[in-house]
Amino acid sequence: MSYRFLLPGHSAESKKIMEKLLKKAAQDLAAAQNVVALTGAGISVESGIPPFRGKGGIWERFDPMEYAHIDAFLKDPAKVWNVLLKEMKAMLDKATPNDAHKGLAKLEELGLLKTIITQNVDGLHQKAGNTDVIEFHGNFAWHRCLECNKTCPVEMIDLTQIPPRCDCGGIYRPEVIFFGEMIPPEHLWRSRQISSDCDVMLVIGTSAVVQPAASMPVVAKESGAKVIEINAEPTPLTGPISDYLIMGKAGEIINGIMAELERLL
Ligand code: NAD
Ligand code: ZN
Repeated sequence: MSYRFLLPGHSAESKKIMEKLLKKAAQDLAAAQNVVALTGAGISVESGIPPFRGKGGIWERFDPMEYAHIDAFLKDPAKVWNVLLKEMKAMLDKATPNDAHKGLAKLEELGLLKTIITQNVDGLHQKAGNTDVIEFHGNFAWHRCLECNKTCPVEMIDLTQIPPRCDCGGIYRPEVIFFGEMIPPEHLWRSRQISSDCDVMLVIGTSAVVQPAASMPVVAKESGAKVIEINAEPTPLTGPISDYLIMGKAGEIINGIMAELERLL
């Protein structure tokens, strides 16, 4: 195994490896023509939003099929609102972009990053300033009435009754993609397109097990792009697909890359 996948720790050697990887990532970004980022729940952990999988993940406490499947929601919306959605709303209401989101916004400002494909529903990339964000799994910021299809911003959703209801009496659902629902075809099509066109893909904080999002790095790799992974732990992409993994917290690593990049530009 080469240094590309050695796990950084606190030894002098692992520090050196981390420095090398941060430099390498900065060089790869500076040399690229077309950088795309694929992000997952891990990028928002430092903003106080827990991921689904991995340490401290929401699925350690809840069964996804019982709460995040569309059939579960339609069968018992009050249960899903009470257990999952109320908590999500409270977390997302107070979350702000962290250094990883801000770093990606800076990369766009520098003209290096074009598009972010995100699996997150928290809207933090847009809040940080990125302008081209494909929200693969929708956005929690908007809710839609199951009866009349009226949409409503999340801050207007009244949680004094659960499930929250529209004026027409219909139940509100978040405009996110539940398990068992289709990714909007235009998002899927455009994500595949930009994944095959990019020359560097940054893959940040995704467990890379939810399809079809997890196949975007494969598309990028097969089209000749470099795939740089940033994650707290190895994933199924680490090794077969990623050129290298920089292991640690997304915010700290992006800060490290940005510092190296400043020296180069
Ligand atoms: P996931 O929960 O399956 O995996 C999270 C990944 O992030 C893990 O690989 C973990 O090792 C890594 N991670 C944890 N903390 C990290 C940190 N500080 N820095 C870097 N990496 C870190 O997430 P996923 O792959 O995005 O798939 C889960 C689905 O959950 C997505 O479809 C998304 O819609 C939804 N989700 C969204 C949010 C959000 O909007 N913030 C939060 C939870 C889940
Ligand atoms: Zn309605």
